[in-house]
Amino acid sequence: MFSSETLTKIQPLDSKKFELGSYSVSMLREDEIHPFVSGNKFRKLKYNFLEASRLEMSTILTFGGAYSNHIAAVAAAGKQQGFKTIGVIRGEELASQITTNPTLAFAVSCGMKLHFVSRSIYRSKMEASFQKRLKELFGSFYLIPEGGTNQLAVRGCEEMLSVHTASFDYISTCVGTGGTISGIIKASEMHQTVLGFSALKGAFQISEIEKYTPKTNFQLTDAYCFGGYAKIDEDLVRFINEFHARSGIPLDPVYTGKMMFGLFDMMKSKKLKENSRILAIHTGGLQGIDGMNQKLKNKNLPQINK
Ligand SMILES: *Cc1c(COP(=O)(O)O)cnc(C)c1O
Repeated sequence: MFSSETLTKIQPLDSKKFELGSYSVSMLREDEIHPFVSGNKFRKLKYNFLEASRLEMSTILTFGGAYSNHIAAVAAAGKQQGFKTIGVIRGEELASQITTNPTLAFAVSCGMKLHFVSRSIYRSKMEASFQKRLKELFGSFYLIPEGGTNQLAVRGCEEMLSVHTASFDYISTCVGTGGTISGIIKASEMHQTVLGFSALKGAFQISEIEKYTPKTNFQLTDAYCFGGYAKIDEDLVRFINEFHARSGIPLDPVYTGKMMFGLFDMMKSKKLKENSRILAIHTGGLQGIDGMNQKLKNKNLPQINK
């Protein structure tokens, strides 16, 4: 799975159907790599899994929330590559909800062992005392941080870009911790501007990006985070469903849906250079649709079509 080079399809959007005016937009279909080890999670795990093998570690431990794409990806990749996996999950109350939470149920079906901790313990997850406790509980392990961001993850994300993406004027991506955009900025051409759409409030990822690259050919915005991480409203659901119907491309509600909403808004208000060619990176995350649809149903809101 991680040994060969992975090139994904560049899919143009129909400029008439989408009324793109002078712009042209294509999507890099990283979501098609694998249903669970998809998009940026595949890229972020690649060199970490290779490193864990090199170190002859048999167990991989990582952290995440209830609907985490990262947890699902580590569980699926671990099963496929023959590692034991442990997921430290934020929120003790979730221990009784494994069977009804699609992400956690999937992780368990892959053999991942789940360890539920309170929110306050979760905040201290990188402290030495907690890590020592984890070693006592589970033995030695290869640790991948929350969201998977580290030097090896950034290196993997650089591989999203290639000679096939070099002529685009803008490269657009979703931003969580900032690891993915760091790799993309590193691999970008001097003439390209990287657009980052944050899935959460605040532009705190800039300091993360600065850890990995001195390049500054990027813009970061949280104007399209819809109030915060995993927050959603009817407008966003409608946008995702319309986009899917017109293009055949499903978007996830936490990251790629918000990015494409933002990108279309920026084109409409001509915030991007006219006549430019834009490549939007589909970073995956489609496993999160089921969990979001449960929440939408409970609030009597419309469902995201799959
Ligand atoms: C995790 C995730 C991101 C965020 O990536 P970072 O490297 O943390 O910025 C973006 N898109 C999708 C679909 C994700 O699952």
